[in-house]
Amino acid sequence: MHGCNSPKSAFPAQKRPPSVHTSETTVEMAVTDPLRAKFARSQLARQTAAIDYYEHCENDPESEYFHGDHSLGVRRSEKLRKCRKNGYYGRHKETGLVRQCRDSCKLRWCSRCGAALVSWRSYICSECMARWNRPRVATFTLEHSDTELGFQISCLNRHFRNLRLRKNFRKYVKGGMWFPHIKRSSKDGLWHPHLHVPFDGIRYPHAELSADWCQVTHGSTIVYLQEVRDLGNVANDVVRYSANPCDWSKLSLKDRDTVLHACHGRQMCGAWGTAKGVPLKPPKHNDRDVIENVGAIGAVLELRNKDLNARAIFEAEVNQTYLPPGVHLRFTDDVIERDGYYQRAVEGVDYGQLQSKT
Ligand SMILES: [Zn+2]
Repeated sequence: MHGCNSPKSAFPAQKRPPSVHTSETTVEMAVTDPLRAKFARSQLARQTAAIDYYEHCENDPESEYFHGDHSLGVRRSEKLRKCRKNGYYGRHKETGLVRQCRDSCKLRWCSRCGAALVSWRSYICSECMARWNRPRVATFTLEHSDTELGFQISCLNRHFRNLRLRKNFRKYVKGGMWFPHIKRSSKDGLWHPHLHVPFDGIRYPHAELSADWCQVTHGSTIVYLQEVRDLGNVANDVVRYSANPCDWSKLSLKDRDTVLHACHGRQMCGAWGTAKGVPLKPPKHNDRDVIENVGAIGAVLELRNKDLNARAIFEAEVNQTYLPPGVHLRFTDDVIERDGYYQRAVEGVDYGQLQSKT
């Protein structure tokens, strides 16, 4: 499959549904897996590229994106910087399960929010493909062109919509999902948007699919078709760019500006037919009333080798096991805020003694 034929996937396959902010949960820990370390480095580079871009806009009086409201730029670069740094461990009062609740910026070009979204979509996509009779992935490309990127994306989406309406296509394909990816060719510098499409149906001869695509695009014949054998890795590959459709760390500031404008306000993924209704966005947690804060993330991670409660909270989240009620570090949080005892607690002051002072 074009752009995705690397034997290594973007990040390790999901085995269980991610709990909202999972992809960031180990950021403070040492990353020993080389694949994860590579992913963490790439994520940092993309986040830095996004912060640089917004800061540049903030300092540029000519910047169109902010329409003169440069405070917007300040807020966005700050939001990106702070994204998912702070938060707390939340315990579900009924199930006793613990998850990390981190503050997030939810900006499209935030690589941390993007990773959480991609993690969710990878899980959903592999679950969906597992139910299909014969899952396959197609990559639809357009002929290289020097036209504007936004125009090319519009054409690509329109052609794909027309393809789905064709009788012949519907004969073979029952449904699927689509995820765009934007690349800039290193050879000729031209933009190259394309679509990764996992789909469900009966055997679609490659020549026929290519001919159908050629007809709707009036000349683009290149379609890559791949049988799905390893669901997890293929799902990772196809959804990899669904949150941030382009890797900003490889682009100049001017190119980032071009991509941002070309993608602004666009739907960047979708599902149809038998995949219609698949939740491509993670469910919103409307369970604030049943989630109790059992300790700040920083405090739990810092104290997990010194304090039994911190250890219990940490392990309950990592292993997704039951945490009994009454186990919390809230007291420690209060002490940190009130008396600045945090350093003493970290240095090994007996937690029981601290507790008995109230
Ligand atoms: Zn974010």
